Amino acid sequence: MKLEWRAFALRVIEAQGVSHPRRAHAHRSGWNSEQHGVHVPAIRLDGKLLAQTIRGEIAARVAERVADGKHAPGLAAILVGDNPASRVYVRNKRKACEEAGIRSWLFPLAANVSQRDLLNLIAELNANPEVHGILVQLPLPPHLDEKAVIDAVDPTIDVDCFHPENVGLLAAGYPRFYPCTPHGCLQMLRRTGVETAGKEVVVVGRSNIVGKPLAMMLVLKRTEMNPMGGDATVTLAHSQTKNLAEVCRRAEILIAAVGVPGLITAGMVRPGAVVLDVGMNTLDGKLVGDVHPGVAEVADSLSPVPGGVGPMTIAMLLENTLRAAEMLDG
Ligand code: NAP
Repeated sequence: MKLEWRAFALRVIEAQGVSHPRRAHAHRSGWNSEQHGVHVPAIRLDGKLLAQTIRGEIAARVAERVADGKHAPGLAAILVGDNPASRVYVRNKRKACEEAGIRSWLFPLAANVSQRDLLNLIAELNANPEVHGILVQLPLPPHLDEKAVIDAVDPTIDVDCFHPENVGLLAAGYPRFYPCTPHGCLQMLRRTGVETAGKEVVVVGRSNIVGKPLAMMLVLKRTEMNPMGGDATVTLAHSQTKNLAEVCRRAEILIAAVGVPGLITAGMVRPGAVVLDVGMNTLDGKLVGDVHPGVAEVADSLSPVPGGVGPMTIAMLLENTLRAAEMLDG
């Protein structure tokens, strides 16, 4: 009864979108429901609510900046072709910008746009002082050279943090920007009281957009220059990993960024683990993650899809656009 009440209390705290020291304590002390023979379903890590809080904080900083007579930050979004998912992502990002007082411009380009025209547009936007961030929505059609496009964005306004200069700065521990999805994951953990320092973390997926930079952020030393350094012990798993289930079961914090619906099943999760689901997959017309719903029976906490890491990613894009504007102020 006492434990049921605890679960209820945690849900109330979670609904308020704040971290709660009691759960942090539970993590530190290794408490988990399985050891106590009582089943408590996983706490839902509500990314939608957390992101709303973060976007409110960003809106306040933008308003302060504008009241000081500075430019509102501005984000230019380039959308090539008519991929329906990409259209939705860009629309959601622009809507979030608008709500936070960040200006945004959409540059829709035909699916058959030439590499030269795309690079010319990026060069124009690089030179525009009202643009503090450029977002090129990926994936690009196959005839375009994605690497050349990423390299063409001025690194000081590369708010996705894909440019090799920014990737290098992050790896060296002096980040200019944090990449949006990995930063969203780290913020979700921080703001719900989950400490990463000293923890055994497994990241499944090694893409340049999510898995690799996420593992990097988790393993980095936390310093004044690098406040989101995770100080964790990290394993980065991928399609060639042997005994994936066994590797995953080591994790106190397990993060799936794979793109395979339901790949992570309950048997792959250590009882009491914190599980983040980055996956965004369509299955039978529904948006689903990489984590099977049965994991909720084993994990301490689980981020849902939708409403988990996705909204956090958008909030971090706004954070980077504001940060770029602040850095360009000098
Ligand atoms: P990606 O570039 O396709 O990379 C997938 C990674 O998963 C690769 O490293 C691949 O290994 C690994 N993998 C594939 N099958 C595997 C298996 N059976 N076992 C172990 N590892 C396996 O994908 P991504 O861009 O990182 O995206 C991953 C997922 O996150 C997708 O569902 C995507 O839609 C979603 N996503 C969500 C957000 C968000 O904001 N929530 C943002 C970006 C992406 P190899 O390297 O060996 O091929």
